[in-house]
Amino acid sequence: MKVKQIQVSGTQSAETARARVLILYTGGTFGMTHDASGALIPFDFSSIVEHLPTIRNLGLAFTVFSFEKPIDSSNISPEHWKLLAEVIRDNYAAHDGFVILHGTDTMAYTASALSFMLEGLSKPVILTGAQLPIIDPRSDARENLITALEIAAAKKDDRAIVPEVCIYFDYELLRGNRSKKVESMQFDAFDSGNYPALAKAGVKIDYNHAAIRQAVNNELTLRTNLDSSIAILKLFPGISEQVVLSVFNNTSLKAVILETYGAGNAPTNSWLIEALQQVIARGVIVVNVSQCPGGMVVQGKYATSKELMQAGVLSGRDMTTEAALTKLMVLLANYDTAQCRQLVEQNLAGELSS
Ligand code: ASP
Repeated sequence: MKVKQIQVSGTQSAETARARVLILYTGGTFGMTHDASGALIPFDFSSIVEHLPTIRNLGLAFTVFSFEKPIDSSNISPEHWKLLAEVIRDNYAAHDGFVILHGTDTMAYTASALSFMLEGLSKPVILTGAQLPIIDPRSDARENLITALEIAAAKKDDRAIVPEVCIYFDYELLRGNRSKKVESMQFDAFDSGNYPALAKAGVKIDYNHAAIRQAVNNELTLRTNLDSSIAILKLFPGISEQVVLSVFNNTSLKAVILETYGAGNAPTNSWLIEALQQVIARGVIVVNVSQCPGGMVVQGKYATSKELMQAGVLSGRDMTTEAALTKLMVLLANYDTAQCRQLVEQNLAGELSS
């Protein structure tokens, strides 16, 4: 798994440009074209200016990298996230912002992961993609890319306006670790039910400055060790003890994300509470995240969540499953169980409301 640099001709030089932006093309619908048989295949990214001549008029200098083999984002893995983080680190000083072109299916996972992996980030990392390939006359790819580039380049008093990992899609800029893919047919593919948009793009780009996370101005530090010994268990009426135990009895398991109902509620069956007590006693971290896209887990609000709390289940508050999962991957690889239990309930990268 590698990246290659792509020469894109006809754009501004680094000396005369108002900002320098690195584009990293990973694949997805955005860059698909038709082969001779009509099937969708990734296009040659060096022809981007041909598909999007207006990119020349932005006054920006570009460095373009591409995955050597562009992928459908369903194939993304923690190894790819590591590669993305390393490309950003290696090119950090020479660029004002970064745009990652990514398939929409797992974009919220990648954005969440990067938000925890890029500690001390003070420059924009904007993920975008498209619901229709750029070669399609009705494609959303052009607007998504042009505005993502504008946001990645945007500065005020010589500092980045949006120094965080975000998703820009369909005229809205969302915090990456608050986002979810919610739509596969319409253009408004993403939503962040528990956090306001960081910007809306209309005639001008209207930034919601109060909602944007301020850079801590630390050095960029990478956390590229990830541990995916995690299960996501979605509760449903009728879920059986055998199924729950088959997950909990896995000896390599280090954490479980329990997707509960409403404000963090679960059935009060004694077998479930006992199974939770036992798995937690074994050192497995269990985090309660709601199946609702909006609102938050409040353990103890209803009797149906009080026992979870007493069993040692941690509250995921208003975290998305994508954020909880990638946060746990980073924590498990870097801290012991007691530290993980403490940090998982803390706000590390704007992913939960305290
Ligand atoms: N399956 C595609 C992907 O996630 C869908 C898209 O790009 O929108 O790579």
